[in-house]
Order: sequence, then structure tokens, then C-alpha cells
Amino acid sequence: MRNAEDEGREGPGRENLSQPQDGGLPGPAREDPPHPRGRAVVGDMPRAEFEPAAHAVADWIAGYLDGVGEYPVLARVRPGEIREGLPERMPEEGEPFEVMLRDFQDQILPGVTHWNHPAFFAYFSVTGSGPGVLGEMLSAALNVNGMVWRSSPAVTELEEVALAWLRDFLGLPGEFDGTINDTASSSSLYALAAAREARLPEARTGGLAGMPRGRFYASEQAHSSIDKAVITLGFGLDGIRKIPTDSSFRMVPQELRRAIHEDMDAGLRPLGVVATLGTTSTTSVDPVAAVGEIARELGLWLHVDAAYGGAAAALPDVRLLFSGWELADSIVVNPHKWLFTPIDCSVLYVRDPGMLRRAFSLTPEYLTTPEQEVARNLMDYGVALGRRFRALKLWFVLRYFGAKGIRDRIEQHVEMARELADWIDEAPGWERIAPVPFSTVVFRYAPPGVAGEKQDRLNREIMDRVNDTGEVFLSHTVLNGRFCLRMAIGNLRTRWEHVSRAWELLQEAAGG
Ligand SMILES: *Cc1c(COP(=O)(O)O)cnc(C)c1O
Repeated sequence: MRNAEDEGREGPGRENLSQPQDGGLPGPAREDPPHPRGRAVVGDMPRAEFEPAAHAVADWIAGYLDGVGEYPVLARVRPGEIREGLPERMPEEGEPFEVMLRDFQDQILPGVTHWNHPAFFAYFSVTGSGPGVLGEMLSAALNVNGMVWRSSPAVTELEEVALAWLRDFLGLPGEFDGTINDTASSSSLYALAAAREARLPEARTGGLAGMPRGRFYASEQAHSSIDKAVITLGFGLDGIRKIPTDSSFRMVPQELRRAIHEDMDAGLRPLGVVATLGTTSTTSVDPVAAVGEIARELGLWLHVDAAYGGAAAALPDVRLLFSGWELADSIVVNPHKWLFTPIDCSVLYVRDPGMLRRAFSLTPEYLTTPEQEVARNLMDYGVALGRRFRALKLWFVLRYFGAKGIRDRIEQHVEMARELADWIDEAPGWERIAPVPFSTVVFRYAPPGVAGEKQDRLNREIMDRVNDTGEVFLSHTVLNGRFCLRMAIGNLRTRWEHVSRAWELLQEAAGG
């Protein structure tokens, strides 16, 4: 980080090095030198075209974000419709940008479901906030690839700084070291690969053939990305054992202990356990302190999946739910979920980055660099060699809103969800299915005399009717075999009236 001393150390002329040559001011159009074979030089979109196009796009984005609530939130197209509206072949001659922008508007936008819409309540609602969008724009312009430190030093170092800020903001101890991946699915895959490296190091060279069968543990409410990671790592679906949950959908620690002992007795090799803080269906919170103690005692890796819920650790009173997550070996939090950063941006924190490097580092000669002993090379922390400059948008988001601004916004989402939960609790015929530790409410319409599959059908109809209005979009889940409605609040543009309108539409749909 820069400080006054660093300023002083900058020698004369140093400043110029960080400026574009000729000061970066618009110069006169340069004449292209003649091509040695007499052909005209072909190049990028000229500035004279780029500049008005960029302004048009910026204007479009500003108008879009301001008026996104006017669109039907869920795209109203049938499968294949967008594809059929587009030419089958690419053009032979290039086309003008204005035409492309118009087609984007007329032909592509109708097939867009508006995640930035204030009444988007499906899955986990997210916001690509203004500062995040601006960071993404600049990162696209730079088009740098942070595979190794020298391939763009700022990519590596800003990632280190932004993730240290975020770690402190979430109340995690300083030992945790973060890297950014595309999604939580990748982050969890890498975490479990590190677990394999820690517990079954022979596998890296010899593969799994002939090894004791490895086993991971997660609650039956854990995200499917954990199963996918276990399959991808070669352990097969049998390599993950699902631990039962209690009536609030939280992993039962005694069941975990029993399962691990049973597997050890059967000659399996328990490798790691995944605790989910904010499960995808109900946002239930596994008792991570108890789970962590078992993992520690029995020598298993503890991975915490807080892809959505992690953001709420910024609120001191919600953080109590996370107590014990500091025992984890690895933690995933997605800023592209509830931290207002445009997709994609998933953070993997690990206690021992050396273990991730041991799992993934392979340096071919052409990628060796003189700095590799003193600077981080992001390619060593996962499967991908190339790395986008994702830290820029996160850094913009953290700075623009500030810690207080982010806390206030998350807190408001939690309040809105609790209010909605109260309305549901008070309404005759409606029932809430799970506690609301964060900003997601799971419920269903269960009037007297309507049960079983009939009730499932009724709730699906209610959801479809509400979604068909185009005013709001909510999704569903299945719990204990029953169809449930689910509303996740997490968009920066969501106001009370959007939540109450959704509730009104639900009640109308149930009555109709
Ligand atoms: C959303 C979610 C994931 C998957 O996130 P991606 O970034 O889309 O891969 C994993 N775990 C939990 C708990 C989630 O909520």
C-alpha cells in the first residue's frame, strides 16, 4: 500500500511512466504508415466511432438501471424464440454499431430476465450496482490477464488488498487469505481439492486408484455444487455423504460424528466436511462451531459455504450465527450475490494458501517469472490460468458504499424479509416453512382441506400466476417433499412497496 514515504521515493520522471505517452490527450489522427505489401492496415474500431458508441452505451446503461423496474421482470419468450429471430450466419461485411445497439434493444432484451429489477425475488437476488458496473467497464477496457504477477501486477495486488478489506469487514481473522474465482462452484471445488491434498497427498501424483475411498460430508441441504466438486475430484457421488438436518434444516452434529465413525470403521478415508451458512433452499445455518470441533478432533478439512449468507456477517448481530466459522480451513463468499458486485465474483478464503498451491501449482517453463518467489501468481490457486480483473469492481463497490453503506443496505433487506415473514405468519391459510436468519422467506399456501399433491399444485399455480404478471419474479423449492414458495430480498432497488406488492399479488393469486 502507498504511504507518504513511498511518494517521496518516486524519482523524477517516474510519474510519466504511469501515464500514456503523449499525456493521454486526444491527439490528431495519425496517418497509418504504408503497409510493406501495399495493403491497407486493418485494426480496431477507430476512436472516432468508438467514442460516440461508448457514450451511447453509457447513456443506455444509465437509463436502463434507472428504469429497470418498468420491464417485465421475467423474460416473456418461449424456448428458441430469441435464436429464431437472429440471422443464421455472421455478416460478411462489418455492420455499424448503431444497428447492433438497436438490435440488442429490439431482439436481445426481450429475452432478458431482469436480475437488476427491484421486484426480482427469485433464487438469490443480486444487484450489479452502479460502481460495480463501472468497475466492470474499466476492467473490460484494460483486458488484462492476471495469470502471473507480472502479466499485470495490479490484478494480483488489488485482489490482495480488496480481499483483506472484505475479510476484516466480515469479521474473519487475519490468517485468512483470499483469491477470486468466477463462482462458488469453482471456489468450493478448489477448497475440496485442497482438502484432498491435505488428507490424501499421494493422489496428486498417483491418482485415486488403489487409494482408500475418500469421503466428504455435507448436510442434505448443501448446495449441489458440493456434489459436483466431489464428482469432479474423482470420488464419485458415493464420495459425499449427506448428513440429516433438524426441523430448521440445520446439520445435526451428532449425526455427522456418527457417520464419520461409521465410515472410518468401514475403512473409508474421511477427508472433509462442508458446513453451509445460508443454505440455498431455506438459508438455514449449520451449527458451524459444533461441526468445526468434530472436524478438528477427527482431522477433517472444514469448508464453509457462505456463498449467499456470508455478506450478512458484516452485521454484528447476525454475525453471532457465524460464530465458529473462523475454525474453517476454507470459506466461500460470493460478492456477486449479496454484496452488490456484478456477476462474476466469488471469493475463496483459505487458512493455508500453500495447500491450494500444492493442489494446483504446475509451472511450465514459459510461465516461470523472476518474481515467483516474492509475488503471488494467481494461476497457482485454481484450474484457470487466465484471470479477469475482478477485484476492480469489488474494490469500487467497497469504496463507493463504504462499510456503513453496505451494512445499512444489507440490514434493510433483512428487515424487509422479517416484515414479510410477519405478514405471512399473520395471514390465515399461509404458513412459513423455515426461520428467516437473513433475507429469504420460504412459505406456502396451505388452506384447510388442501393437502399433499393438491397443495403442491395450488402453490405452483400461485407462483406461475404471480410470475405471469411480469411485476415480480419469485421461485420455489421443495422441502420434505413439499413444494414451497421462496422470496429472496437482496436488490439495492427493492423498496417496501415492491415487497408488499408481491405479497398482495400472492394473496390475490391464492384467492383467484
Ligand atoms: C448460490 C450458491 C452456490 C453456487 O453459487 P455459484 O457462484 O453460482 O456457483 C453455492 N452454495 C450456496 C450456498 C449458494 O447459495
